[in-house]
Formats: sequence, C-alpha cells, structure tokens
Amino acid sequence: MATELVGTKKLVVGWFSFTCCEDSTILLTELLNDHLDQWKKVVEFRYFKALKTKNEIRELDVAFIEGAISSPKQAKEVLTIRENAKYVVAVGACAVTGLPSASRNNLVDEKTNYKLYWYFSHFDYSDKVQKLSEVIKIDDQINGCPMNAEVFMSTLNRYLKEFGIVH
Ligand code: SF4
Repeated sequence: MATELVGTKKLVVGWFSFTCCEDSTILLTELLNDHLDQWKKVVEFRYFKALKTKNEIRELDVAFIEGAISSPKQAKEVLTIRENAKYVVAVGACAVTGLPSASRNNLVDEKTNYKLYWYFSHFDYSDKVQKLSEVIKIDDQINGCPMNAEVFMSTLNRYLKEFGIVH
C-alpha cells in the first residue's frame, strides 16, 4: 500500500454484513493484525460492528458490503447505506452473485421444504435472496468466497488515492 500521506484527512469507511457467514469480516480482522497501525493513519472505520459498538452510517466515502439480501428490512438498510456512501463495494460471492447464501431460491417445493416454509411464515424473509446489485447500484466488487484479500487491499488503496489521502 502506498503510505505517503497527503494531509490529515482519512478515508471514511463502513463495513457491513448481511446474510452470510461473515468470513470476509474475519479475513479483514486478520488483515488488521498486519495493517492496523498503517490504516489508523489513513482510514476511519465509521461503521464496523465487529470492531466497535458505536457505529454511524453517515457521510461514508466507501461502504464495503458482504452478504446477500434476504429480507425487506435488509433491503431498506442497504438503501440507507447507498444514500450515505459515495461508493459501494460488494464484497465476496454472496454479495456479488447471491450464492451460496441464495441457495434457498432453488428450494421451491413446499412439501419437501416444509421447514423452510416454517421460517418464511415466522420471520420477515423475502421470497428470493438477492445479490446486492439487484437491490442497489454498486460501484465495485471483490470476488471470492471469502473475498480475495489482495483485491481488497488494492481496492482500498485505489480509493485512498482517489480521495487524495495517499500518493
Ligand atoms: S462469500 Fe463465502 S465466505 Fe463470504 S459470506 Fe458468502 S459464503 Fe461466506
């Protein structure tokens, strides 16, 4: 990562997880083992529930979103994120393609999937699990299951440069 600072501004980042196993979140926390000191100088994690309890969806430069969207409540939440982020990046296969979280879309027989229908009738799930781009506009994506860590690093670095935070 380029680290020559231009000024004191930091990249304001949000990290969000929806329907998924959150392995990209785990991978990111592993990356923090090596990069926390460096990132603290250039990144403000304004929303990152795995790291802190006080989180805000406000004036984000980049929102990284992992997971598929499986309920109207989640769809509303990602719309709020979209409205408050200059860029939105889909992270990992579930966000980018829907799968594997969207596997239930193919389980349609009510008799053989009575357990699934029990969940449908007791919780606020959408009929179909959606990839992120079916719900909001995305600007970028990081593939992989979990995300490709190198692509995440290069994507973060690209935004640091784009926002004039590092050379
Ligand atoms: S893309 Fe893979 S690692 Fe990431 S949340 Fe989905 S299943 Fe888990």
